[in-house]
Amino acid sequence: MLVANSIPVPLWRLFGGASNTITTDITIPIVSPTEASKLASKYYNEGFETFKLKVGRDLNADIEVLQAIRAAHPECQFILDANEGYNSEEAVEVLKKLHEIGVTPVLFEQPVHRDDWGGLGYIANVARNRYGISVAADESCRSLVDIYKIAEGNLADVINIKLAKVGVLGALNIIEKAKTAVISHKIVV
Ligand SMILES: [Mg+2]
Repeated sequence: MLVANSIPVPLWRLFGGASNTITTDITIPIVSPTEASKLASKYYNEGFETFKLKVGRDLNADIEVLQAIRAAHPECQFILDANEGYNSEEAVEVLKKLHEIGVTPVLFEQPVHRDDWGGLGYIANVARNRYGISVAADESCRSLVDIYKIAEGNLADVINIKLAKVGVLGALNIIEKAKTAVISHKIVV
């Protein structure tokens, strides 16, 4: 059985949209391109087609890893999770390089430090408008206040609600409260 440790919630879904897609992804840690490619093949044979790639330590090395996996499995999709590892310039550079090699990740998670709200919003804007890529807030999304801030400022397209921290009922509660608050405050995203 697969157990998610966080629920990525698209903000448009919180605010009245609907989705019929479910993506099941598996994490590939920061390793060498060869090692990453081996892991990807193993997971692919187990039925995974979306890889959540941990990035954010060295952008050139990150791109090499991605290219190695893509060479072995061109049909697979990527979620990039930077775990706060880039600064704004690096994050934008990664998006640019990915575009140059024809890769469009399904999600770019927490590109910058959790408190770099300006950076998060800037990258989300570039990713969304220039490349059609959604940015997720993970470490930046710690409380309802954070969720409102993200929604109000349009700082990300997706928020990750940590099940380990808040539990399933807690997560549902947060989603419900966020919905209500957003409607009552007339925040449009
Ligand atoms: Mg993450």
